[in-house]
Amino acid sequence: MRYEGQIYRPFSEANSYLLQCTVGCSHNGCTFCGMYKDRRFRVRSTDEILEDIRMAGNHYGDVEKVFLCDGDAVCMETETLLAILKALYDTFASLRHVGTYVGPQSTLEKSMADLARLRGAGLTKAYLGVESGDDAVLTDINKGVTAAQMLEAGRRLVEAGFNLSSMVLLGIAGTGEPARRHAALTADITNRMKPRYLAALTYTPVPHTALFKKVESGKFVLPDPFETLEEMKVMFENITIDNLTFVGAHASNYLPVSGKLQKDKAAMLQTVNAVLTSRNMNALRPDAMRGL
Ligand code: SF4
Repeated sequence: MRYEGQIYRPFSEANSYLLQCTVGCSHNGCTFCGMYKDRRFRVRSTDEILEDIRMAGNHYGDVEKVFLCDGDAVCMETETLLAILKALYDTFASLRHVGTYVGPQSTLEKSMADLARLRGAGLTKAYLGVESGDDAVLTDINKGVTAAQMLEAGRRLVEAGFNLSSMVLLGIAGTGEPARRHAALTADITNRMKPRYLAALTYTPVPHTALFKKVESGKFVLPDPFETLEEMKVMFENITIDNLTFVGAHASNYLPVSGKLQKDKAAMLQTVNAVLTSRNMNALRPDAMRGL
């Protein structure tokens, strides 16, 4: 298989065939993210992508899951994406899942009709980097959209029938009252967006990024591990929608809490509260074992 640059994927796509459709991220401006800072964004040629699919068919025979890389494949022309989806389903008889990261701006640029056509053609799962429901945080991290625009992007994906995974960042608002507001507003945007999955990651400074420089200079104060758990607790307490799978097992998190809201809410809160009460560092994942 042919890839350009470091390839990233959500951890739930570990068993997927990774098909690179774009190189980099169309936005590439978030201050905390270093994933694609070393490359200029471009869409790969359709011929190259279709050739990759033929090569993968010869190599793998059949696959059940595909993930479209890199950072925001939904920014591609709808007709091109439809041709790619058709080639994938024609090639792999058992294919049942095609996922992609979706940028909020790119999603908003697609009409509802186009989103529905993509869903109908088998683009099944969308991973939206919501990061926060707080406008102040989204501005600080240069996400490129307001909370209202982020909500609209997510709602459109849900309405089009996508299995939506919202990804949010613990610790991205720093400490104190901004952190509490971030957690409460992130719960609020989740309630209104109604994704099927909520994946929480903990902000970890990445060298050579703008936010890393603010951490180094003292302009951004990192929360301690327990403060990130306080944020998780506020989210659990304030999320009211049902059948939401909370995925907290990511390697960046100090405490891997996962479960179904509302069914597991009491147990999830009990787990977090026990560590917040004991302040036992041994109950947390050591920094050396954390990573993005
Ligand atoms: S966080 Fe996502 S949208 Fe932001 S620069 Fe990184 S890949 Fe692009």
